[in-house]
Amino acid sequence: MVLDNLSTSLKNSLKKITSALFIDEKTVNELVQNIQRALLAADVNVQLVFDLTNKIKERFREEKPTKDQPKREFLIHIVYDELTSLLGKEKEEIKISQKKPFKIMLVGLLGSGKTTSAGKLANYYKKRNYKVATLGLDTFRPAARHQLKIVSDQVGVQCFINEQEKDPVKIYRNFENQYKNYDILIIDTAGRNALLQELIDELELINKAVQPDERLLIIPAELGQASRSQAEAFHNSVDITGIIITKMDGTAKAGGALSAAAVSDAKIKFIGVGERPNDLETFNPPNFVSRLLGMGDLEALLEKAREAISEEKSKDIEKRLLKGEFNLVDLYEQMQAMSKMGSLSKLLELVPGMSQLKLPKDVLDVHEDKLKHWKYSMNSMTKKELEEPEIIDGSRIRRISSGSGIPASEIRDLLKQYKMAKKMMSSIKGKDPEKLMRKFKGRIPGM
Ligand code: GDP
Ligand code: MG
Repeated sequence: MVLDNLSTSLKNSLKKITSALFIDEKTVNELVQNIQRALLAADVNVQLVFDLTNKIKERFREEKPTKDQPKREFLIHIVYDELTSLLGKEKEEIKISQKKPFKIMLVGLLGSGKTTSAGKLANYYKKRNYKVATLGLDTFRPAARHQLKIVSDQVGVQCFINEQEKDPVKIYRNFENQYKNYDILIIDTAGRNALLQELIDELELINKAVQPDERLLIIPAELGQASRSQAEAFHNSVDITGIIITKMDGTAKAGGALSAAAVSDAKIKFIGVGERPNDLETFNPPNFVSRLLGMGDLEALLEKAREAISEEKSKDIEKRLLKGEFNLVDLYEQMQAMSKMGSLSKLLELVPGMSQLKLPKDVLDVHEDKLKHWKYSMNSMTKKELEEPEIIDGSRIRRISSGSGIPASEIRDLLKQYKMAKKMMSSIKGKDPEKLMRKFKGRIPGM
């Protein structure tokens, strides 16, 4: 996960507490020192670190555990609480109003991840059943609008761009009569190397014309503690309403950016944890700290599982399964649903207890790669082959293999999986569907 080192050292410090014979001042001091070291290594500001650790000591001294609460649990609770405060306490969600469209504008310096985040946000809201479009107002970098078009196509949302026009406000006006057909409009803007007057002026003009409902500042995690002054500068000049910290996956110093941004006036709404459209998480300090401390993040897991497959669709597939009509297309849809949930290894991190199991990484990755390969090979099949996999013989396998670049043995594997699923299916035809589904769900690949 992000902030792996911090997570490991915090977990180790807490582990010592759980196994300590007594919880006295000495153990508390030791814990506090370990936490200090861990936070400083993650680039959290020295003053913030000392404030936090003093608070932990003070609360442990002055507050009383609730009845029956063991001292060590009381101490861990205080640590959890204080770390959560350090990162901003509550989740500050963006409330999408009924207004059409609800406009979210992204601002930030060059290379901070605005365009990538525009694609991620479009993907995020599209999955939540909003009709989303993007609008490219970065006329500063030549290829910027084309890049936005590519990420928008990738997640399947409308992208408004005009690659000739130099004036962002004119581009906005260009398409003005079409925006009302969308629930959410995500607006990508230009950056500069620093917050120059030129950029402020440009953003002010856009701001005035567009009147966005949310103005999100994009900050790359590697900016560390300087995130605070950057957030404050943008807040003063363009009145930002929230922050997205990107590239959390790329640095051990992300603690600096998170804690620094948390003390600025605008709060962190999302974090970017990779380059792909799915690599965006809502930022929820209590859950984030639970994960750092290894407590598992059930809520995030449920959220991902919910968006992966709509209920209607899964009902539909269930029905067809029971009639014995299950074909490769269905298997494919199941697999797509799985890939929407993000990578398996990332997903498992969210399951309480899973991260402790230390599943070997190659086990997870092989599984994931296999799914990807199956998907590629299915893309090389004809519609008839997908619907009636029985007709796929040796020569078809060779053709599919050379078309997709996937070894024939893996395609045979896929067909074997399919046959197994199908066989289970036909043995259950005509039985009580409710009972059967419960029994089979665990065994059908991808379900
Ligand atoms: P912009 O100039 O602000 O629009 O920045 P871009 O969206 O073009 O992103 C700059 C680079 O950062 C690209 O190579 C992105 O792939 C990369 N990037 C953006 N967000 C993330 C992230 O969360 N993690 C990682 N690893 N890379 C990211
Ligand atoms: Mg850009």
